[in-house]
Amino acid sequence: MRFERRRHRARRELIEGGFGEDRRALCARRFRWWRGLDAAQRERLEAVALTLEADVTWEAARGFAVTDEMKVTISAQAALLVVGLPDGMYRDVHTVIVHPTTLVLEGEHSQVDGIVSDDPMPVLGEAHDHGPVLLAWDEVLADARHAGDGRNVVVHEFAHKLDMLDGTVDGTPPLGSPERYGRWIAVCTAVYTEVVEGNGPEVLDPYAGVNPGEFFAVASEAFFDAPADLLRQQADLYEVLADFYGQDPAGRMTA
Ligand SMILES: [Zn+2]
Repeated sequence: MRFERRRHRARRELIEGGFGEDRRALCARRFRWWRGLDAAQRERLEAVALTLEADVTWEAARGFAVTDEMKVTISAQAALLVVGLPDGMYRDVHTVIVHPTTLVLEGEHSQVDGIVSDDPMPVLGEAHDHGPVLLAWDEVLADARHAGDGRNVVVHEFAHKLDMLDGTVDGTPPLGSPERYGRWIAVCTAVYTEVVEGNGPEVLDPYAGVNPGEFFAVASEAFFDAPADLLRQQADLYEVLADFYGQDPAGRMTA
C-alpha cells in the first residue's frame, strides 16, 4: 500500500482532470486572443497553464486569498508566452505571490542599479532571479479589461523570467544560434536607443528605456497585447520577437 501526500494527490487530480470547460470559458471571456489560437497552440497552452497552476506555490499577501480564478487567469497568460517555445522555460518559476492591489514602495529603494530613490514608487509586479514573481491582482484584471493598450503585467514579469534563463537579465533570452543573436542585438539596440532618446514607437511604454531588461519585458507586452500596432510601428522588432516566441499574434488578431 502506498500513501500519497495530500499535496501530491491534489496535483495528480488537477492534472488528470484536464483543463476543462470551466477554465476554457473563463479564458474565452477574459482574453480576446483566446479564440485566435489554433488547435495545437491551445492544446499546448492548456497543458502549460495547468502544470503552472499545479506546480507553482501560490502565496497571497496577508489578509488576501488566491482563488482558482486568479490562478487560471495568471497561468493562462504566462503560458501564452511559451506556446511556441520548448518545454521547461518556466523551470525557475516556483512561487507566485498575489497582492490584492498595487504595492507602493516607501523609503529608499533602487529600481536601476546605482540609482537610489526615496520617492514613493508604485509596483505592479516584480520578478526575482531564482525567486518569486509578484503580481498585483487589480492590475492583472485591469490589463485584461483594457487589452490592446500594449500593457500587461503578467506578460512583463514572465518575460523577465525568460530573460533570466541564461543567467543574466540583459534583454536577451536564450536564442540558440549566432545568427539569431546577431539580428536580435542589432534590432533591439537600435530601437532601445530610440526609446532612450525619446523617439521610440508609441506602442512601447517609455519605461522600456530604463535598461535593456525592461526593454525586452515592455516590448513583449506590446507584442502580445497590441501586436498589430507593434508590427505597424516597428516591424523589425515585431519580427525578432515573433522569431523568438515562435508565434504571430498580429496574424491571430486579424484572422
Ligand atoms: Zn520589469
